[in-house]
Amino acid sequence: EAPAEKHEFKAETKKLLHIVAHSLYSQREVFVRELISNSSDALEKLRHLQATSQDVSTEAPLEVNISVDKEAKTITFCDSGIGMTADELKDNLGTIARSGSKAYIEKMQDGADTKDMANTIVGQFGVGFYSAFMVGDKITVYTRSATPGSAGYCWESDGLGSYTLSKAEDVPVGTKIVISVKDDAKEFLGEDKLQEVIKKYSNFVGFPISVNGEKVNTVEALWTKDKNSITDEDHENFYQFVSGAWDKPMYNLVYKADGPISIRSILYAPTRSPEAMGFERVKPGVSLYSRKVLIMPNAPGLLPEWLRFIQGVVDSEDLPLNLSRELLQNGPVIMRLKSIITSRIIKWLQEESKRDVEKYDEFYKVFASFIKEGTCQDTANQKEISKLLRFETSGKEAGKLISLDEYVESMPSEQEHIYYFCTPNRKVGVESPYYAPFKQHGTEVLFLHHALDEFVMGRLQEFKGKRLVSVDSKEANSVLEKWNKAAQAESPESAATALTTEQANELTAWLLTNMGPSVKEVKVAERFMTYPAIVTDFESPAVRRMMKMMAGDSE
Ligand code: ADP
Ligand code: MG
Repeated sequence: EAPAEKHEFKAETKKLLHIVAHSLYSQREVFVRELISNSSDALEKLRHLQATSQDVSTEAPLEVNISVDKEAKTITFCDSGIGMTADELKDNLGTIARSGSKAYIEKMQDGADTKDMANTIVGQFGVGFYSAFMVGDKITVYTRSATPGSAGYCWESDGLGSYTLSKAEDVPVGTKIVISVKDDAKEFLGEDKLQEVIKKYSNFVGFPISVNGEKVNTVEALWTKDKNSITDEDHENFYQFVSGAWDKPMYNLVYKADGPISIRSILYAPTRSPEAMGFERVKPGVSLYSRKVLIMPNAPGLLPEWLRFIQGVVDSEDLPLNLSRELLQNGPVIMRLKSIITSRIIKWLQEESKRDVEKYDEFYKVFASFIKEGTCQDTANQKEISKLLRFETSGKEAGKLISLDEYVESMPSEQEHIYYFCTPNRKVGVESPYYAPFKQHGTEVLFLHHALDEFVMGRLQEFKGKRLVSVDSKEANSVLEKWNKAAQAESPESAATALTTEQANELTAWLLTNMGPSVKEVKVAERFMTYPAIVTDFESPAVRRMMKMMAGDSE
């Protein structure tokens, strides 16, 4: 037999392994979930190959068998899934697959608190296969790929810096992972403990899981069950199972339809968003099934980009099992599915926003940027998405949000437009001369502080037939002139203090000659109630800020 080859782990893998092995966890038990989820993935892949009648060299029942040996101090996870070739072993178990963890580890400072980091990584991204090193000081993996003619291999590591790889005889198709349990992790050698952890995290895995021959989980596709028989706990577990995340779902939707397309689905809005926290763009979170067979995990094209934060499962028996990538992106059935499910999701979020305003605010604070992205990009659904937007307003204290619907509902009947003002923060908005006349007039103004808001308003243009008007725009000027005229008609003595046309012309000429190139145009407008002059319109304050920034001028 050929001797084992020795391979070094990549640098970031070493860092991760160090963190994993040297930080004490209350959450060590998650290794069970991680290994079972890998087995489940491998079984799904094999089931898909079998369902599309491709050539695979196995007919073994699809299952996960876990065994503990108290004397040898080992726990063994064995699945009859798709297995790995030698190259796949090197690629998959030698590097960090989880992009979130990888980005986090690359960013982290040397000397940072590893316990803290471990908690963040485990809590937010999961450490996948490497979590086995939280409880094991040696891990041995036996695997054989289901591709006909593949050989069996053995991978082994103590998690310190390297692993060995060798050919192995008599390995059945699938993967077997043997963990030599550390002395301080002996509790996991108990069947009861393992069963408890499996029930907690892996109850919804779609394949039988057994511990020393005893079946533990309920093998059922939750999305085919009756909505009312699904408990909150089921949802929480299922959400964590499908998303691989550790938070709780903020909202859930069980949605079924029989025509024009058959749909069985469960969808979740998470509580947290790694992407909004500054980690890289997340993958789509909804997986596509047909009659309980996974067609495509994290299916691109099933939902519009802006809904990539939604997690869950969509099962449609109208989909062919061997769906090509192209068909997935543009096929007619997918397009129909996409449009039906997208509308349903928007309606669902609208309903949730009405059901519990405070909860929706909480959700909105985390996911606002996705909704704004949708308002700008998803033109087909723009109107409905815009009802999900929330903004601060002069009508409420700082931090309180309202919808455009609420704004319009509380508008006095004679008010023509919806007014908004983009400023870096509320203080600047409140103290600004642009806002002053609106304040004086008692007209509500939305205060927008987010970088995307100006684009959102530009794209949206109107809401329920009311134009969205920035308080520093030409349109606002003409409204203010109207207000001024009305005010002057009411109290003629205030009109007497204004400049005559002659005086105004003189001042205009003076400004143009004396202010040089920094003045582009001078206009006489009857806008101002408390300020003698104001810069308007050519560019909005946000664009001016941007131009200043580009010129290297910081405010
Ligand atoms: P992730 O599951 O997020 O990809 P993991 O670290 O858990 O990350 O696993 C890394 C990769 O190793 C998997 O993507 C898969 O390709 C491979 N792998 C792990 N366990 C198994 C298994 N039981 N059977 C087949 N492949 C596996
Ligand atoms: Mg995994």
